[in-house]
Amino acid sequence: MAKLRMAVVGYGGMGGWHVNSVREKVSEIEVYGIWDIREEARRCAKENGLHVYSSLDDLLGDESVGLVTIAVPNNFHKDISIKALRAGKNVVCEKPVTLNSDELKEIIAVRDETGKLFSIHQNRRWDRDYRIVKAARDQGLLGQVYMVKSIVQGSRGAMYGWRGHKENGGGMLLDWGIHLIDQAMNMFDEKVVSVDAHLMSMYTPGVDDNIHLFIRFESGCSYIMEMSTNCLINLPRWHVQGTEGTLQINDWGCSGKLMKLKPNAEMKWEDDIVYTEAGPTRTMAPRPEYTMFELPLPDEQPDWADYYKNIVGVIEGTQELIVKPEQALRVMNVVDLMFKADAEGKGQECRI
Ligand code: NAD
Repeated sequence: MAKLRMAVVGYGGMGGWHVNSVREKVSEIEVYGIWDIREEARRCAKENGLHVYSSLDDLLGDESVGLVTIAVPNNFHKDISIKALRAGKNVVCEKPVTLNSDELKEIIAVRDETGKLFSIHQNRRWDRDYRIVKAARDQGLLGQVYMVKSIVQGSRGAMYGWRGHKENGGGMLLDWGIHLIDQAMNMFDEKVVSVDAHLMSMYTPGVDDNIHLFIRFESGCSYIMEMSTNCLINLPRWHVQGTEGTLQINDWGCSGKLMKLKPNAEMKWEDDIVYTEAGPTRTMAPRPEYTMFELPLPDEQPDWADYYKNIVGVIEGTQELIVKPEQALRVMNVVDLMFKADAEGKGQECRI
């Protein structure tokens, strides 16, 4: 079978990454060409052996192209996605798929009208740290998970370039927030019953750059996310508590541990006050070592290339799409409500 020919719109940081990564790891796809409004990007693409189209219309008019990947600033995602679908292309769009849920509904309508594939590059579903947490939960290693903290902390200050402009869809909620919310809603296959958000603009006037997000799931789990840009001492990437254990992942290298309760190890409750480093307290006194044991973290080795292999499988009719627009719509509904929660200064009930 002929290889699926792909073209990329936007040859900046992420467009370049798509080109190089697909070339390196997805032999089923031929990365053919690009379109970018910047002369310098077009020159770099030519040097990288790519065909450079003369316009977006030129790219979309190439009948040999079966897949278009869109990697331009966020405010252009909707119009270019719709144009590409109408031109008969299968489309992969970078995250955030759109600026809000209404825009995504417009794309989904055109997807339905054209019958073409539309997916969103939620590549962080293939992050190893995330997969370890998800596997621990799916395998029941922690019992019922009731608290999750998912934290990413940078230290370089502002949101740079177009990410610092509201009209481009800048800001942290639409940048990293969308990844962490997508992970949360992919891990918990259940309704979101309330959300809250505190979106601070500390270093980048006009957009949120340091944020706290909160989701309450129907089963009662409290899921807290933090993204910051001026943090000089990082918290662990993940801290997860369940009825039978606690898991911590320290960093992107996935060092960490999973502590579990021993099934029949009785723990004596002290009637008398216990004198601890925390002062006189029974509730916060350290748990005796003999009631716990350490399990190795689940051995997860996800391969990001499976995202594009799935796209090929769907086009060939052999696989079901993994990252579906309907899932992204749930995420965008949550994002809409988070902007509202921040503007009103109060949490929002929902059933999403
Ligand atoms: P970037 O600024 O590095 O690149 C954007 C490119 O798009 C530039 O070369 C620019 O000239 C070009 N461009 C702008 N408007 C255009 C238009 N109308 N038509 C054609 N080209 C146009 O930005 P980036 O960091 O590569 O981000 C691009 C997209 O990728 C964003 O949506 C971003 O959220 C996403 N992204 C995703 C991830 C991820 O992990 N999934 C990581 C980084 C960026």
